[in-house]
Amino acid sequence: MGGIDTKRLRQIVGEEGVRDAPADLLVYGSDASVHQARPQAVVRPTTVEQVQQLLEYCHQQRIPLVARGSGSGMCGQTVPLRGGIVLDMKGMNRILEINLRDGICRVEPGVVDDDLNRELKPHGFFYPPTPASARIATIGGEIANNASGTRSVKYGAARDSVLGLKVVLPGGRLLELGGRTRVASSGYPLERLFVGSEGTLGVIVEATLRYVPIPRFRCLGIAKFDKLEQAGDAVSAIMAAGCQPSMLELIDHVAITAVNRAQNLGLPDVEAILLFEADGMVREAVDYEIERLTHYSQEAGGFGIESSYEAKERERIFAGRKKLFPSLSNFADALASTALADDMAVPYSRMAETARKIHQVAERHGLIMTAYGHCGAGCMHTKILMDTSKGEQWRAARQAVAEIYQWVRQVGGTTSAEHGIGISKAAAFKEEKAPLLELMRAVKAVFDPQGIMNPGKLMDAPDDWLHASPLRYDVDNGEV
Ligand SMILES: Cc1cc2nc3c(=O)[nH]c(=O)nc-3n(C[C@H](O)[C@H](O)[C@H](O)COP(=O)(O)OP(=O)(O)OC[C@H]3O[C@@H](n4cnc5c(N)ncnc54)[C@H](O)[C@@H]3O)c2cc1C
Repeated sequence: MGGIDTKRLRQIVGEEGVRDAPADLLVYGSDASVHQARPQAVVRPTTVEQVQQLLEYCHQQRIPLVARGSGSGMCGQTVPLRGGIVLDMKGMNRILEINLRDGICRVEPGVVDDDLNRELKPHGFFYPPTPASARIATIGGEIANNASGTRSVKYGAARDSVLGLKVVLPGGRLLELGGRTRVASSGYPLERLFVGSEGTLGVIVEATLRYVPIPRFRCLGIAKFDKLEQAGDAVSAIMAAGCQPSMLELIDHVAITAVNRAQNLGLPDVEAILLFEADGMVREAVDYEIERLTHYSQEAGGFGIESSYEAKERERIFAGRKKLFPSLSNFADALASTALADDMAVPYSRMAETARKIHQVAERHGLIMTAYGHCGAGCMHTKILMDTSKGEQWRAARQAVAEIYQWVRQVGGTTSAEHGIGISKAAAFKEEKAPLLELMRAVKAVFDPQGIMNPGKLMDAPDDWLHASPLRYDVDNGEV
């Protein structure tokens, strides 16, 4: 790999577009994961032409390049393991078109999810993947991660909203993939390759997206369960009956405790809570779904069931889930919430068993782990609550992560539901996809023959996440 000529970079994007001060390199060397590394420069393009010139330069000089949206990825996707350039795409943040007659919008990749939804709202539409991080996550980052969210059980993940992409390949070639139509039966859908590619193939510079109508009615309910297994049975029964919830969320006892300690919300002391929502344009249709969701929850042993159409009541019911993530670090003094084994997907019928398994593995290794998530989409989130200053806790976490993902594969699940692979989940991903890794490397080589795009990720990521890069935490004696 060659050295970086910052003068050349400044010629391309201007003086303001290049940063190499130590503070900038520190900030852009980490994301919401446990990892960190240093880039040599941060570059902020504002036009497609600039991206093309940058990728031509990096390709010629064999300089590693990591595209970055808001850096809210939880697994180290934007951590520049091999140094080089971090390409900050937030300077390309224009909504280029909202075309109501075609039912599409065109955006630059640095547009923040909430900003797009703010623009769509007056027209009566919304862009549905909406991760919990929608306040900061960019459309480019969501596509490259195949993000999803609480409503993906009904409205799908990012992949279901992408109709077309413009991407720049190493070398500077601009490709237009997909298009503006809802259907397309015209050869390989190459735009799909970039969904979930984690910046390893090229840089997304424009996306054409579908959106959906904002439902007129939305009703949110809650059911409490003494046993995790009962909540799991309710999820399976709801999905088996063909119900169409617009949200189905599981919250376990660890998360309930954390939220109660941090926010004093007075959630019930039970093993599991299910939040369920139905939405639609016709009140009777929503009533019908809510009746069925209530019925199957009750039949599985749910109690304390209530639901409401009122905005304030819905806010109250959802408060625990909304505050969950920031509350986890308050579970106990000296325990920090780390994004390790942070998400996975398992079949509905194995949901409760998986949550139980996570708790058992955690206990065996002297850790605390929570299990919650968009269970209607098969998504399970975890966090490891641990004393990050202790080397033995990190080693225990590594063992726990490996055991949990072994279980996930065993029950027919997959390594990541929506947060992606990055560095932390690479070992599990490589085990799961072992027969496909060579094919994936061959695909990457077609788009990126010099291997400059986010090198050391996905199929080429290190097997040992604990020693792949420095940790973002101070560990006693620096020993892990
Ligand atoms: C509090 C919190 C809650 C979260 N909740 C959810 C959730 O509910 N659902 C969910 O799916 N995720 C969630 N996440 C994870 C994360 O926010 C999402 O994955 C989001 O999609 C990342 O967007 P970003 O702009 O921060 O991307 P980044 O983290 O900056 O980048 C993510 C990946 O995309 C690549 N990339 C970014 N832009 C481009 C581009 N223009 N071209 C090519 N590649 C690119 C990067 O190289 C990287 O591999 C959460 C994170 C946090 C911190």
